[in-house]
Amino acid sequence: MSSSSSVSRNYGKQHLNAERGTPKQCWCGQPAELVTSASVTNPGRLYYCCARGYHKRHLFKLADECLVEEVEDIKPMIRGMNDDISFLILNVARLGKEIEVMKTAHVRKRDECMRNVVVLCVGMAILCYYYFFV
Ligand SMILES: [Zn+2]
Repeated sequence: MSSSSSVSRNYGKQHLNAERGTPKQCWCGQPAELVTSASVTNPGRLYYCCARGYHKRHLFKLADECLVEEVEDIKPMIRGMNDDISFLILNVARLGKEIEVMKTAHVRKRDECMRNVVVLCVGMAILCYYYFFV
């Protein structure tokens, strides 16, 4: 049996493949192999089949359909990642505002602390003056 006629004849048997996306192995346990069709109807079309070779009771899955399934499966993940990115952008903006508030509070505290140091030094100078000179 040539692979040329088997590609087109078994096109409807895709439902036997439980695994979505690119198959790793045939249900007989053999690894899946990527094969190029040499058929007249699908020349050059890629498909996965059992490493034992094409047989109608073993794995057969068109590679382009595997890719379509993988893209379909990854779309919800990409949507979820876009939602996560939007959430993170909002959080970064909120944290940026909090940092600005904290910087302003820090400058205010630093100025207040310097004012206290100046008052303390002046007080100590007055005390020393009275202690030593009066
Ligand atoms: Zn097999």
